[in-house]
Parts: sequence; structure tokens; C-alpha cells
Amino acid sequence: MLPHQTLANPCVDFIVTGEGETPIVELLQTIVAKGTAAAAVRDIAAVGSKLDGQLHVNATPAKLPDLEELSPAWHLLPVERYLASGKYFYSSLGSRVNLDRVLGLITSRGCPWRCAYCYNQFASRRAFRGVSAAKISEEVRRLREQHGVSAVVFEDDCFFTDRERALTIVRSLGVPWSASIRANYLASWGEEFIRELEAHHCVELRIGAESGSPRVLKLMAKDITVDHIRRSVELCTTSRHQRASRFHAWRSGRDLGGHAGEPIA
Ligand code: SF4
Repeated sequence: MLPHQTLANPCVDFIVTGEGETPIVELLQTIVAKGTAAAAVRDIAAVGSKLDGQLHVNATPAKLPDLEELSPAWHLLPVERYLASGKYFYSSLGSRVNLDRVLGLITSRGCPWRCAYCYNQFASRRAFRGVSAAKISEEVRRLREQHGVSAVVFEDDCFFTDRERALTIVRSLGVPWSASIRANYLASWGEEFIRELEAHHCVELRIGAESGSPRVLKLMAKDITVDHIRRSVELCTTSRHQRASRFHAWRSGRDLGGHAGEPIA
């Protein structure tokens, strides 16, 4: 997000902006073939370099990788080191669930919403790209089989942006899981939706309520209302399957006194 400032650090020789999978390979290939001082580095889209003491950031965006073709090289990774206990879940309920071998996964990039404080306004420019449900389901099946993964925490910015994709994924999981969901989605999809999540092992829904003030919600372009937040709380706390699902909301910046213009409680 701050390429020039980052590149100006004396410890930094090169930077890659945005999604790095494509430009970093091109950068390394160029360095191997022509050396670190090669002017050719300047021509690589989305790469910043420091040549002859001058900072240069190529502002051409890199080609976005096809997420369908990107997968972690699980066979090369020390998967054991990425597995956590139930404490990985965000809420106290998650940490009380007797689980180990919990793995975090990201199945999409970007978000179509416009929250003013969010890095997505810069990073994804409101475009959402999700890996297909079939690919994620197969990946989780293999992670269960080969590494004994017993629960999944989805760390997607907006997991339910494509509702059908998300539902297809969770229907196939067969293990407890947690994900974030916007309050307006949950409030409008209602009882039937939350029951379906619970029937498919939902342990926790994380909702970025952010503020109880309509004025502040509007200020941050959150596009949710206090009624959406209330309804979401109701759905999670009055559900017939309270054992399986709880509401966990937080206000970003809560430790710093809230958002600009918001009175300190
Ligand atoms: S919904 Fe979440 S991910 Fe999307 S813009 Fe708002 S804060 Fe960012």
C-alpha cells in the first residue's frame, strides 16, 4: 500500500505491490539471469527497485493469478506447525470446543463492499474472486486424510460474498468451522440460513459490527444498519442449536477508542 515509503527503507532492495505470485517469479528470474542491478527489473509490472540510488516503482498492475491454479504446496510445507488448538477460534466458545489440529484457510480474495477503513479499497478495488467450491472441498478432504485436520477457520475477508459457493463448501466439510459474515447478509438470509450452517458444523460466525452508532456506520460507509446487527445477534443467540453457533462481534479500533468522531465509551 505504501510502495515508495517501503522501498526507501535502507534494508529493502525490491518490492512487489499487490498480488505477488506472478511478478515475484519474473523478478527472481530476471535477477538470476541479469543480476540485481539490471535495468530490466524496472520493466516488470508491479515491481519496485532501487537502482543507482533512485527509487523506481513500476505502476503497471501485475496480471492477477488464476486462483483456480494456485494452491499451497502442502507437500513442501511443515503443516504440523500451522495446526492450532481450538483457541484459534476467535470467540471464547471456539476456544472451549474440544478441538485440536485446527487449520486456517483463505478461499477467496477481495470484497465488493466499500468500508472506508478497509485495505480492500486499495488491494482488490472491490473485486471478489473465489476459488471454486469443488477445489476447496477436495483440498480439505486431503488435509483431513493426510494431516488429520479436525476443524477449519476460514480467514477470508468476506467468505459469504458468493453465498452458493460458500454453502457448497461448508456442506462438504464434515468438520467444525468458523467464518466471518456481514451483518446485512445474516440479517436478510435469516433463520433458515443459520440452521443450515449449524447443520453443517458451524461453530462460530464473526461479524464486524464496528459501531452501534448509525452516524459512525454511515461515516465509515459500512452499509449495515444497527437493525442488521441486532437481528444478527438475535439469530445467533435464539437459535435452536445454540450449542453449535455463537455470535462474536468486535469493533475495530476498540482498544484505541473507536472510530473517528465516535465518543469514547
Ligand atoms: S465487508 Fe469486510 S472485507 Fe469487505 S470492505 Fe468491509 S471490512 Fe473490508
